[in-house]
Amino acid sequence: MEKLLDVKALHVSFQVGKGEVKAVRGVTFSLERGETLAIVGESGSGKSVTALALMRLLPFPGKIKSGEIRYNGKDLTPVSEKEMFHIRGSEIGMIFQDPMTSLNPTMAIGKQITEGLRWHQKIGETEAKARAIEMLNRVGIPHPEKRLDQYPHEFSGGMRQRVMIAMALAMSPKVLIADEPTTALDVTIQAQILELMKELQQEMGTSIILITHDLGVVAETADRVSVMYGGQVVETGTVTELFHDAHHPYTWGLLQSMPRLDQSRDQELRPIPGSPPDLYEPPQGCPFADRCPYAMNACYEEMPPLTRLSDTHLVACWLEDPEAPPVMIHRSSAS
Ligand code: SF4
Ligand code: MG
Repeated sequence: MEKLLDVKALHVSFQVGKGEVKAVRGVTFSLERGETLAIVGESGSGKSVTALALMRLLPFPGKIKSGEIRYNGKDLTPVSEKEMFHIRGSEIGMIFQDPMTSLNPTMAIGKQITEGLRWHQKIGETEAKARAIEMLNRVGIPHPEKRLDQYPHEFSGGMRQRVMIAMALAMSPKVLIADEPTTALDVTIQAQILELMKELQQEMGTSIILITHDLGVVAETADRVSVMYGGQVVETGTVTELFHDAHHPYTWGLLQSMPRLDQSRDQELRPIPGSPPDLYEPPQGCPFADRCPYAMNACYEEMPPLTRLSDTHLVACWLEDPEAPPVMIHRSSAS
């Protein structure tokens, strides 16, 4: 399949005082046409920062230090803000966890949708309004023509998230980046929104990057998954590879901390003991070493390279590296 987005060795830092917080440290992944790639990890793993870097919307003092973000073959890291503005309007869209932070509370939602359309797609008011109604209808908002003049606070949380999706998809982006799009919603609404995103993806052929800490959401929606930890991608694979054949100890920990249907409510989940690395002074070796039950000396000294387990499955762990010193002593038949 064709790579629509190809991110290579991306580094993002936030300058604080004399030092830097190295939030994203050499992240590499790609997105194919029409697929959904989930990026999972705990908060602080660098997944939202990666998303904002892709959109070139890093908050101050965040900065892309090095690496490439190729969209349709073209590196976006050096393009002008003017060109980026155009790309954000028509090629790569984004929706956030809390629509209240990205919807303007003082503007009727109809106007918010049509302004973007008129600006980016150079269409007239009547056409923009028709498109807004069509999109609101498409995302399941009843009587859209009556709701165009309402303000964000007049919508429920689930309805606001639908408005956000309508706004983003009205521009027909090729890529939609959704950062925790359903985290603030209750389970029933969450399922409806995920279902809606899937339907729209099939209809419009949009490729989706879904950022989440929720493996349940991943299992429901994604084709492939990249697991982030300490600002790095530690494992990438298809959903089947990740859920049934994970190779990274951190992925094992995540899977164990996932609630299961056959688990009673008071049965405790097993969160991974310890806390994520300090990205002000990131470890030189494996970022998971302090919490990993299998850590060896090499793990503290050098970051493990990515080992390829299949065409789609990559893992960064010394346990998988063919060059790593043997961890187990096998009894030879001669002794
Ligand atoms: Fe654990 Fe070492 Fe693998 Fe890191 S490289 S996950 S510390 S075994
Ligand atoms: Mg986040």
